[in-house]
Amino acid sequence: MALKTKQQYIESLRKLKPTVYMFGEKIENPVDNPRIFAGISATATTYELAEMDEYRDLITTASPFTGEVVNRFTLPAQSIEDLVMRVKINRILGGYTGTCFQRCTGLDCLGALSIVTHNIDQKYGTHYRDRFIDFLRYMQTNDLAGNAGVTDVKGDRSLSPHQQEDRDLYLRVVEKNREGITVRGAKAHQTGSLSSHEIIVLPTRALRKEDEAYAVAFAIPADAKGLIHIVGRSSLDTRELEGVDCGNVRYSKYCPTLIFNDVFVPWDRVFMCGEVEFAGEIVGRFSAYHRQSHGGCKAGKIDAMIGAAQIMAEYNGTSKVSHIKEKIIDMIHRAETLYGCSLAASYEGKKEPSGTYFIDPVLANASKIHEGKEMAEVGRLLVDVAGGFVADLPSDKDLENSEIGPLLQKYLKGAADVPTMNRIKMFRLVEKMVLESADTISDIHGGGSAAAHRITISRESDMEYKKRCAKRLAGIEG
Ligand code: SF4
Repeated sequence: MALKTKQQYIESLRKLKPTVYMFGEKIENPVDNPRIFAGISATATTYELAEMDEYRDLITTASPFTGEVVNRFTLPAQSIEDLVMRVKINRILGGYTGTCFQRCTGLDCLGALSIVTHNIDQKYGTHYRDRFIDFLRYMQTNDLAGNAGVTDVKGDRSLSPHQQEDRDLYLRVVEKNREGITVRGAKAHQTGSLSSHEIIVLPTRALRKEDEAYAVAFAIPADAKGLIHIVGRSSLDTRELEGVDCGNVRYSKYCPTLIFNDVFVPWDRVFMCGEVEFAGEIVGRFSAYHRQSHGGCKAGKIDAMIGAAQIMAEYNGTSKVSHIKEKIIDMIHRAETLYGCSLAASYEGKKEPSGTYFIDPVLANASKIHEGKEMAEVGRLLVDVAGGFVADLPSDKDLENSEIGPLLQKYLKGAADVPTMNRIKMFRLVEKMVLESADTISDIHGGGSAAAHRITISRESDMEYKKRCAKRLAGIEG
């Protein structure tokens, strides 16, 4: 079976028994916890769309590794078309969910590993690529969701991993034997770790010889022994537990911290172990893929934000006001610039020696820098158009109160032909899309910090070419 239905996906998560904590309590059944289920529902859309006639041909394709039709979220790009399709899919899913659907980081890991395992094997005669392809086939055949365990907690940022007072502040190998390795450490911001079947771990940074124990890449099931998911607090999170004022009534995002408390990994799941000079390449490839990915999903989220702005203007009776129209146009051009940049990163991609296609890293990072600033501006414009009730709308519970509910219905009315509750629902959605910390912070830090994006652009840009252009025009020789 190469494709799961949405329901089969949800049921497959029920079979896992991960160790989960949230708000100080152990969660025995994460799938049925409303906070976590809202996130799982977002990931489930990647399965749902594969079942829909309208999207099936976009989101599924034949895999050269299994010979079967697979979900593109399990296939490292085999062509420029694959790179382009993923941006298009992300845009559709971003608009469909209005939030993060959490399945992309796993694919970004598969892409990075499919390139770098080959490169390591070429240098050292190792067999990481064969192991990786076996794992890839397993992911594809079972239509699994992967989660990227990349961001270490890092301790003192001025020190390298082996210099930390507590050497576990970067995930490391603490033991090796004939059967496999044991790892210890923690990975932060693990969006969707409980929506995933597999956790795919990569190093978080370039490493030196002394950091050999930290140069490790592997995959483990989300319920591996010793792995603990601690769901992070984020703004608005208790709304889903209370079941009111959620804004986005279907989907949400949650981000656990993962603690690897001496987790055993068998050798057949280890894809790098000690090859320090490849740590920088593997995280660089992952990050560049993920920055391309963001350009699609965030353009899609802006689509939903533009829709909300237009509807709020109609509900408020301001849709014909010229400055409101201009603000909505300003939102549209930001979405299209982001999308265009990510598409360009895909069209300018190149085939790597392993056969996998890699995006243009300068364009992918330019897209991400644009996102970091412009998503905030889009949010500001949306709040500007919608109005001040985004900040302090009375709760649905107040609207249900027999004494004050009718008064609120009367005084929260906008345009006469619009039911008050529709206006209230749209205010709530605006609040969710603009002010939920889990999703909005990823506009800035998702796929690495803004400084990391700039470093990549600086490293990958052909500055000599640009200087030659300027010298020729100025008539300077040499
Ligand atoms: Fe995918 Fe990342 Fe966008 Fe979430 S934020 S939908 S994981 S690209």
